[in-house]
Amino acid sequence: LMIEEERMSEMGKLIVLSGPSGAGKGTIVDQLLKNGEYELSISCTTRAPRGQEKEGINYFYKSKEEFEKMIAEGKFLEYADVFGCYYGTPRDYVLGKLEQGKSVILEIDVQGALQVKENYPQAIMIFILPPSEEVLLERLRGRGTETDEQIAKRFGKAKAEMELACRYDYSVVNDDLMTAVEEIRRIIEKD
Ligand code: 5GP
Repeated sequence: LMIEEERMSEMGKLIVLSGPSGAGKGTIVDQLLKNGEYELSISCTTRAPRGQEKEGINYFYKSKEEFEKMIAEGKFLEYADVFGCYYGTPRDYVLGKLEQGKSVILEIDVQGALQVKENYPQAIMIFILPPSEEVLLERLRGRGTETDEQIAKRFGKAKAEMELACRYDYSVVNDDLMTAVEEIRRIIEKD
């Protein structure tokens, strides 16, 4: 048991961040990464790159065939279909980092997050909420990269997701960015 505990204490922490698009997850993650305490896992997706997004920085962009081959090969810690595209977390990258004692952040959707919790119960599950539905809608519109139909779809999914916030260990309201970031740091450090 002692050896087991010692080994566990050397492992990095797995931090799962979810929240509706428009809750400000991206900005929160940027802040969390600033001090180099955590590593961000880069997901694979079959969605096309948006705007300034880059291969290997935002995502690894895959064709549907490539992605399905990776599923068959067991390459994902979790994967999900979000808005008709696949998204998945690379298993070896994440487990490798944790074994090296590095803490890893996954920024993934609710379906994927619940799979992670099932396979890896020590994961720290944090749900990020927008201050209100009005603010959420404003932020979704403000991005300016999506059609009205896409925005309506994301807003609908956001509302459905927010009802699942109760399945997470913690939820944090992103009203003031730095307050939310500090709250998340505290949650991770004390866990
Ligand atoms: P976006 O297309 O806006 O980058 O992401 C859409 C949704 O997919 C977001 O909710 C994001 O958190 C989620 N997502 C990104 N990567 C992954 C992943 O690897 N697995 C899962 N399950 N969801 C992901």
